[in-house]
Amino acid sequence: MADKYLKNYINGALIPAESGEYLDNYNPSTGKVYSYIPDSDETDIKNAVDAAEKAFPIWSKMGLEKRFRILNRIADVIEQNMDEFAKAESRDNGKPLSMARNVDIPRAQANFRFFATAILHFSSESHHMEGEAINFTLRQPLGIVGCISPWNLPLYLFTWKIAPALAAGNCVVAKPSEMTPMTAFMLAKACKEAGLPPGVLNIVHGLGGKAGQAIIEHPKVKAISFTGGTETGKKIAQIAAPMFKKLSLELGGKNPNIIFEDCDFDQMMVDTLRSSFSNSGQICLCGSRIYVQRSIYEKFRDELVKRTQFLKVGDPFSSISDLGALVSQQHLDKVLSYVNLAEVEGGTVLCGGTKIEMDGELEGGYYMRPAVIEGLPNNCRTNQEEIFGPVVTIQPFDTEEESIELANGTQFGLSSTVWTQDISKANRVAEKLQAGIVWINCWLLRDLRTPFGGAKSSGVGREGGLEALRFFTEPKNVCIKY
Ligand code: NAD
Repeated sequence: MADKYLKNYINGALIPAESGEYLDNYNPSTGKVYSYIPDSDETDIKNAVDAAEKAFPIWSKMGLEKRFRILNRIADVIEQNMDEFAKAESRDNGKPLSMARNVDIPRAQANFRFFATAILHFSSESHHMEGEAINFTLRQPLGIVGCISPWNLPLYLFTWKIAPALAAGNCVVAKPSEMTPMTAFMLAKACKEAGLPPGVLNIVHGLGGKAGQAIIEHPKVKAISFTGGTETGKKIAQIAAPMFKKLSLELGGKNPNIIFEDCDFDQMMVDTLRSSFSNSGQICLCGSRIYVQRSIYEKFRDELVKRTQFLKVGDPFSSISDLGALVSQQHLDKVLSYVNLAEVEGGTVLCGGTKIEMDGELEGGYYMRPAVIEGLPNNCRTNQEEIFGPVVTIQPFDTEEESIELANGTQFGLSSTVWTQDISKANRVAEKLQAGIVWINCWLLRDLRTPFGGAKSSGVGREGGLEALRFFTEPKNVCIKY
């Protein structure tokens, strides 16, 4: 099995880490090691940066049409191998195969297609000084950029960064999460097949504090696009800011759902179940604090508990599993510890919150029952800290003002969801919510042209559409007097 030992992708070649060391890669559905990842360090990052430096003059001057064709071809290769990619993602992450098939991999190919075409339409501004001069903004690629992504939506988020960086003419050194490296390795092969010139994209595997940090610290890496935890984001900013690197940080969340009594109850229930437990709650955009207007609180609570208990947790490869395994033993322990904490803080666990012991092949897997908790104040740790698992808290509110105060009452500001049929109320609330994204009567409906990112401790900067192309280019004003 050649692919049991994953390889770095540096200067167009698939090679082991210089140290020859490997890290274990676990299958979360069984808890067993099933492959090995290069344990890369600063030497491998240096090699990747050197390759990117050599490739930059060619790639950046290649012309938009040629870059478009190559990136579009990468999308084709992903699409042609959709099933293989989806199975690999499900095995590596523990998510249901159906989700990898319907969400993760289609979106990864869409990211390449979207930015391949977007660059053809990208334009800059000009500013006329009447009778005197004209200014225009030249937008040039930055050079070598670093892209670092987390484990929850592995290929989806990895390509969300890499595609715009490449489209804008940069060369990239990228690192996927050490917990979910498999589809990034497959992407490297797809890039070779699509004819991406050597060194344009370099994928280096390994630990965050070692390989990841070496990307941040390398003086020739001009910008960092990072998605991950808020604490890691802080560390990265501490290193990168004094080096004056451009930074885009997409960090943690603790997203509120506000449910008003005048909502479309049935539709709201369907989407609230999704926003609570999709990918076992391991999506940064999942709503984990649910605020419900008091008049419908009990009806909502009973219905949510009933539907949550009905969810099937099991083998990610089975078509009847709604939830698969959590990503790691450590993460499962962390999520379960928050359920205990909720009880210590006075909450009532209405359902779930316990580990599931499986039989046979799945015996060592990281499974838990999704939990709904009530009776907690807004300022307790359970309601303030990111859990990032299948755990939601519910709380009643009386007035519109109170709902906004509760929703804004954490350090985070990534996304929020509002359920009401009153369009004026929806707009009033949207205006006041401290979040990068407000979904009204829907959840996770994404248009790739829109700005994406968080406020407060959920991040700095925006990805998506033109925002990403602007991030990955340096604007230069050229002033011409006449
Ligand atoms: P993490 O911060 O532990 O790791 C993310 C990536 O950073 C990994 O590739 C890791 O190896 C690397 N890393 C770790 N330490 C590093 C360092 N010192 N220098 C450089 N790189 C380093 O996050 P995670 O546990 O993989 O992912 C879960 C987190 O990601 C959650 O907080 C979640 O909310 C967040 N997330 C945010 C978004 C968003 O768009 N805002 C999307 C998905 C996930």
